[in-house]
Amino acid sequence: MTETTIFQKIIDGEIPCEKLHEDDFCIAFNDISAQAPIHYLVIPKKPIVSLCECAEKDADLLGHLLFVGSKIAKSKNLNNWRTVINTGKESGQTVFHLHIHFLAGRKMTWPPG
Ligand code: 5GP
Repeated sequence: MTETTIFQKIIDGEIPCEKLHEDDFCIAFNDISAQAPIHYLVIPKKPIVSLCECAEKDADLLGHLLFVGSKIAKSKNLNNWRTVINTGKESGQTVFHLHIHFLAGRKMTWPPG
């Protein structure tokens, strides 16, 4: 059996979060360790481990996550932000429940570390 992730506990309401959005398919909340003045995560309620584990039937859900994250950004009057999806340990993924980072409020650099 796989271990319950911290994000599953947030979805289940067992761990508090600063919630920005919730609907039947996803939840968005501020990152606990913000790497920019604005840093929030959008995660599916479906327990998908990472982009690597997505199936074709998840395509609409993936689009929904991006759309919701962008809607939140626009509600904050942002028109510049960075989206990041770490996939796998070596990419920097530390929580193995799919999530999209939205970062804004400072100048971003490239290439990422
Ligand atoms: P990853 O490194 O997997 O791409 O991103 C995981 C993110 O989840 C990190 O930015 C980390 O700060 C955030 N995070 C980890 N635990 C918690 C938590 O309990 N609450 C919130 N709001 N964010 C968390």
